[in-house]
Amino acid sequence: MTRLLIVGPPGAGKGTQSVRITTAFGIPAIATGDIFRANIANQTELGQQVSAIIKSGEYVPDSLTNDLVASRLKEEDCAAGFLLDGYPRTVDQLRFLDELLEAEGTALDAVIQLVADQDEIVSRLLKRAHEEGRSDDTPETIRHRQDLYLRETAPLIAVYKERGLVIEIDALGDVDDVAARITSALAAREIVPVAR
Ligand code: AMP
Repeated sequence: MTRLLIVGPPGAGKGTQSVRITTAFGIPAIATGDIFRANIANQTELGQQVSAIIKSGEYVPDSLTNDLVASRLKEEDCAAGFLLDGYPRTVDQLRFLDELLEAEGTALDAVIQLVADQDEIVSRLLKRAHEEGRSDDTPETIRHRQDLYLRETAPLIAVYKERGLVIEIDALGDVDDVAARITSALAAREIVPVAR
């Protein structure tokens, strides 16, 4: 079982690295934002409950989010573990996840924190915005999202750091190099894919 959490600022390549990790370990990525968006697109009851909240940019209430994750982690494809992305996002969610895993006699194995220089990310995202004609990405909006990310994750990272779970990964550079850094940092903790 490999139970991981990945965090990283917008523009650090978290999506790409998540795919690498989930493929290598044969585990699903559980991204609460994606699950909510899929529910909205499919007009499920949950989708209808959260649509307005998500549009407003607020957080979905912890009770809804926690229930969603609890049932998702019980699904069969999580037998070999999981990679959480975007959850936990609050300290209450972190506590809920602790209890959920504790009830099974388990816990997170590691927290992968992608770290990248802010200025570097801003220029990366501006380049992409220019290439893709995304005029909503300005230096100001990008910096604002970076600040939000740092404020949001700091309390969670602090808790996980105290537990010695955080692996800081330099997210700048070639995608393959970053993936290799993650693999070797995990391997150093004896977190390796099991032969299937
Ligand atoms: P994301 O794609 O991770 O940025 O998530 C998109 C939106 O989904 C967020 O702005 C929140 O409204 C909601 N959301 C995703 N994950 C969570 C979470 N763990 N707790 C509360 N709301 C969440």
